[in-house]
Amino acid sequence: MPIRRDKRDRYVEIEVGAPAEPLWVRCESCGELIFRRKLQENQYVCPRCGAYFFLSAPERVASLVDEGSFEELPPPRIEEDPLGFSDQVPYKERLSRARVETNLNEAVLAGRAKVQGIPVILAVMDFRFIGGSMGVGVGEILALAMERAAEERKPFVLVVASGGARVQEGVLSLLQMVKVVAARETLAQAGVPYIAILTYPSTGGVLASIGGIADVTIAEEGALIGFAGPRVIEQTTGERLPPGFQTAKFALEHGIVDAVVPRAKLKEELVRALSVLAGEG
Ligand SMILES: [Zn+2]
Repeated sequence: MPIRRDKRDRYVEIEVGAPAEPLWVRCESCGELIFRRKLQENQYVCPRCGAYFFLSAPERVASLVDEGSFEELPPPRIEEDPLGFSDQVPYKERLSRARVETNLNEAVLAGRAKVQGIPVILAVMDFRFIGGSMGVGVGEILALAMERAAEERKPFVLVVASGGARVQEGVLSLLQMVKVVAARETLAQAGVPYIAILTYPSTGGVLASIGGIADVTIAEEGALIGFAGPRVIEQTTGERLPPGFQTAKFALEHGIVDAVVPRAKLKEELVRALSVLAGEG
């Protein structure tokens, strides 16, 4: 049995051929130990208590598109770390860590795909990658994806999982809000539909720009939808917020989203929206 050092410099034994991911996962909501394979089959919803686990972008893609149909768009070239930013960790290092941890190049994955035979351009954000935040890279990927969608006359579908703008890129991250809204306008001019799926969390500058201006907006059950966090709002306004504030249900009651759908029915609902908008149903 091979051995390796753990972080405290003790030796720990690991099994030969041990998978990178543990076989069992504990549900943080009910404490149940769940066989990973079973969790996967259940679309990462706890079979005991119904709690939703985060989906990575590749997992989300797999849950929505026809098998084998996803083809990633070539990533744009951008200048990284334009401000030479450093907080507790230099931003460049934060980026490389995120890349290693997620196996993604940026906090959004975009490509061509088919959803029940309907060709779309799909972009899926990944919260594990620096909180799914939007900096120049994410803004550029989203803008290019929308331009492709307009050119190829394919509906644009965006799955939001983001805390907002990427603070490490300062004002440049805020400018992405303008860029993606402008790209969204080219979609509108081309008469190409845009469907947004808001998941946990859909907040900050992403909700306040591209996340909030789709033709059809679907919220996944359990989504958090809002601009600033409840505590910040309460401190700023000096007012108590109503119960259920920023939940998907609250967003539906206040006209921010068109439907709240459980994860298991998301694809079905997406197909329904695509069929109506693309004039195929
Ligand atoms: Zn559970």
